[in-house]
Amino acid sequence: MKLAVYGKGGIGKSTTSCNISVALARRGRRVLQIGCDPKHDSTFTLTGFLIPTIIDTLEEKDYHYEDVYAEDVIYEGYGGVHCVEAGGPPAGAGCGGYVVGETMKLLKELRAFDEHDVILFDVLGDVVCGGFAAPLNYADYCLIITDNGFDALFAANRIAASVREKARTHPLKLAGLVGNRTNKRDLIDKYVESVPMPVLEILPLIEDIRISRVKGKTIFEMAESDPSLEPVCQYYLNIADHLLAGPEGVVPKETPDRALFELLSDF
Ligand code: ADP
Ligand code: MG
Repeated sequence: MKLAVYGKGGIGKSTTSCNISVALARRGRRVLQIGCDPKHDSTFTLTGFLIPTIIDTLEEKDYHYEDVYAEDVIYEGYGGVHCVEAGGPPAGAGCGGYVVGETMKLLKELRAFDEHDVILFDVLGDVVCGGFAAPLNYADYCLIITDNGFDALFAANRIAASVREKARTHPLKLAGLVGNRTNKRDLIDKYVESVPMPVLEILPLIEDIRISRVKGKTIFEMAESDPSLEPVCQYYLNIADHLLAGPEGVVPKETPDRALFELLSDF
């Protein structure tokens, strides 16, 4: 299964991705998480440090792709989850999307896609243009992380449009939304009424999740010494089990931008 996780910046994609990856590994799957955000901190809570990126490694090898081996770019993280960071061009220069496209090519050449049961792409989703849409060419499912606010749902709607577009030529489905850092879901519910798609889980703001990030650990690792965190792990295990069951998913039909403003605003 190939899974592409998208969502607005800072919404909790990487946090959610790392914990879903561990949950999938707990279910016996060989998991590879690929950070496709130039921020290159996707896998930080799995490894506990910022691993060298594909771009770092390519630079070191003078862009001789044939000199790059799997062990140069794939690091083992918590729970046996394998980790890759695409990296990005220097801030303010070059094209981050291009880097994602190149990462896909290199990992395919390294046969990394064949050697794992689950590939999870963690991709920034403010703009799903060019290279940042590349993971959708490979994914079976897209999963969107959102909160109960306008901005994240606006980004979700854009991502839904990209899924609809890619689904014309690829066997891609939207598995659904994960609500994150929210107790309220009224706007999420309003949105899925107008653009029907499953809501897989709603995670509240949990202080221990924030702390887990600062400690460079997943919530599963923290739960080893603090069993009171097991209910938090359960959220992620539920999402993992849902995905492993091969959900039908949807090809969404996004709402026009203006209609979304009307739907989700108070004026
Ligand atoms: P993204 O990858 O979308 O940019 P991150 O996963 O890096 O976002 O999350 C941003 C911040 O939000 C992190 O500090 C993370 O610990 C925190 N966070 C994510 N989900 C939760 C949650 N459910 N409860 C509390 N804090 C969270
Ligand atoms: Mg991230």
